[in-house]
Amino acid sequence: MTDRTVLISGGGIAGPTLAFWLAAAGFRPTLIEQAPELRTGGYVIDFWGLGYWIAERMGLEADINRVGYHAREMRIVDDNGKRVAGFGTDVFGELTNGRYVTLARSDLSRLLFEKAKDRTEIIFGNEIVGLEDASAGVRVRFKHGGERKFVW
Ligand SMILES: Cc1cc2nc3c(=O)[nH]c(=O)nc-3n(C[C@H](O)[C@H](O)[C@H](O)COP(=O)(O)OP(=O)(O)OC[C@H]3O[C@@H](n4cnc5c(N)ncnc54)[C@H](O)[C@@H]3O)c2cc1C
Repeated sequence: MTDRTVLISGGGIAGPTLAFWLAAAGFRPTLIEQAPELRTGGYVIDFWGLGYWIAERMGLEADINRVGYHAREMRIVDDNGKRVAGFGTDVFGELTNGRYVTLARSDLSRLLFEKAKDRTEIIFGNEIVGLEDASAGVRVRFKHGGERKFVW
């Protein structure tokens, strides 16, 4: 562990992922999220490729497949919900060697957050409003009061 600290703004997908990997590299990350708690609900995302590979390397493959959906068919329906067209979605699995899942963005965010939180300081309900050069670091001003220096 070094004394190097890092402040990451946003606890969505990128934020906790970056915190996890920087902690693994010996930094002391702080994650600041403007929402009062982790955001829930919202849209689903198709998850595959590089993102899937990174989640796999974080030990999350079983979890993302447990909370995710494995759709079998894409359907177009009429006003009564009757199928008028569609196609099987096996092709996505075939193209990605089965490394494809649809999951709620907030579920992915929560799983990434759970991985990062033990080695990351978490600040909810606040945000950065000022950054100023300081010797060997940056002085950060927060919206709801207070200042802190982050050092490299
Ligand atoms: C409708 C829709 C469908 C999508 N479908 C897919 C898909 O199928 N596959 C795919 O790979 N991607 C998809 N995406 C894109 C994907 O959701 C984004 O690429 C991903 O969420 C980006 O992650 P992020 O961490 O950069 O930002 P976000 O996930 O948006 O997280 C940002 C976080 O920062 C916080 N924040 C914002 N401002 C501040 C601030 N000033 N201070 C502190 N915190 C702050 C927010 O509250 C939030 O928690 C879709 C996006 C949308 C909108």
